Amino acid sequence: MAHSVLIVEDEVKLRNLIRTNLEREGLNVLTTGSGAEAIELVSRYTPELVILDLGLPDVSGLEVAKEIRFISDVLILMLTARSSDEDRIRGLELGADDYVIKPFSPRELVLRVIALLRRGSVVAARANYFSFGDGLVTIDEERHEVRLNEVAINLSPTEWGILLELARVPGRVYSRYELVNVVRGYEWEGYERVIDSHIKNLRRKLDDDSTNPKLIETVLGVGYRLCLTRDDLK
Ligand code: CA
Repeated sequence: MAHSVLIVEDEVKLRNLIRTNLEREGLNVLTTGSGAEAIELVSRYTPELVILDLGLPDVSGLEVAKEIRFISDVLILMLTARSSDEDRIRGLELGADDYVIKPFSPRELVLRVIALLRRGSVVAARANYFSFGDGLVTIDEERHEVRLNEVAINLSPTEWGILLELARVPGRVYSRYELVNVVRGYEWEGYERVIDSHIKNLRRKLDDDSTNPKLIETVLGVGYRLCLTRDDLK
């Protein structure tokens, strides 16, 4: 089945340009110029990827991203203005997967969309067993087992959840806001410190030096990422 993409952009010309270029690649395309309708379309049609302009007339794009994340794991690619660093960071914190800065060439956008869709399907297809860094770390989801240099290590359910989340897309930065979703049940207040302390424990158990981490890296102002390469993606 062809992938379906939802374009959320209020500028009609730009919206049509993006649509034409994506359809040329054989993708199924839905469009809207309204943030409120975007949320409805995501729940009704479950597209695989949403191209989300942050500057919308009815609801802010960031608000839309947040709402979408509540109901769906759909890939989100933000369209942002060159000047809005803060919006980009906030969007990534809210769980957007990537962004493209306006103005962009249609070709660039198409390539980003295809790369994201490919990443999404690779992750879905190999969801049970992962090996990282030439077998340094392995995760067996079915057996609920993490091994470091082939030796099983004990993780708390929360640490397991966070590591699994980081491992879904190695190299991608996960915000504390996203990671807190895997530790639901904690007080929302002060969640950043909660995540930080779980990361500290994970590093200790994975033998990662917290002053100079090689496995789980801190990305200032955003969150954390797994620095290992997934062996099947090399
Ligand atoms: Ca706009």
